[in-house]
Amino acid sequence: MSARSGRVKGVNGNLVTVEFNESVSQNEVAYVVQGDLRLIAEVIRVRGRYADMQVFESTAGITVGDPVEFAGDLLSVELGPGLLATVYDGLQNPLNVIAERHGFFLPRGEQTEALPRDQVWEFAPRAAAGDRVRAGDTLGVVTEGIFEHRVMVPFGVGGVVPVDQSRTIDPLGPEFTLARFERLFAEYPKPNHPIKAFLINRPRLRGFGNGYMQEMLFRAGIQPTRKVASLDRDERKRLHRAVRGVLAEATRKGGSADTCDIYGRPGGYVKALGARVKSCTVCRTPIQKKSFLGGATYYCPGCQKEPG
Ligand SMILES: [Zn+2]
Repeated sequence: MSARSGRVKGVNGNLVTVEFNESVSQNEVAYVVQGDLRLIAEVIRVRGRYADMQVFESTAGITVGDPVEFAGDLLSVELGPGLLATVYDGLQNPLNVIAERHGFFLPRGEQTEALPRDQVWEFAPRAAAGDRVRAGDTLGVVTEGIFEHRVMVPFGVGGVVPVDQSRTIDPLGPEFTLARFERLFAEYPKPNHPIKAFLINRPRLRGFGNGYMQEMLFRAGIQPTRKVASLDRDERKRLHRAVRGVLAEATRKGGSADTCDIYGRPGGYVKALGARVKSCTVCRTPIQKKSFLGGATYYCPGCQKEPG
């Protein structure tokens, strides 16, 4: 966060005039700070030591003297996989996330990640080791529905692709055997990581989302916080079967019932866990929620017992 700041000098509707101490750029993003609230605004005019800003939220309660922080960058939109299936407010806050947190009414000062950080996508490389790339070249693509998101070299970056783009394993393919799965466990560098991290990172396994990972752990009867190294052979075997089982069922049924394809058709896979599931469909135990690794994970304490 930039240290450049200012103080509110006047409020007129959604326009706020700010006196600043250093320098401010036209169209720069700024935040009016009110206690815990940070109201986003954009600089629309600079006159001497004063900047006029348009605040994109209700300015009720903003008073002369309120602190203002300048962000140092322009108003921008985040692009990437997950964008197409999400509905946003005007500041790119995902409405489903806000609804989960606050219900029907959008509070002021809400800032949410525009794209889900805990969802894993399949990356198909287009550049190979040894290729020379420069800004704007496509390194690979991520497919969302019928669209391809290109992952491109950013401005100011270029060089030779050094990494070994080894092939990923299709969890539904013949090569995803129990022995191969065991090897992924043995090769995993962080035995003290939670098993959920293993499923997120799994270096060679093709992508699936957070929602399916918790389904897999539920079917295997394993708590998401269990350490990778603590799983015994039987549990690894159950997890291997659950990975295949969940993905096979989801594929057969056209995806999850709580998401739609890009034509608005919901899938037929009904998840056992999620924000709306109150108690376990198998044992009736109330579903628990744990927040870690940048997302919420649901589990059934009855079916997914701690060992011993
Ligand atoms: Zn249960």
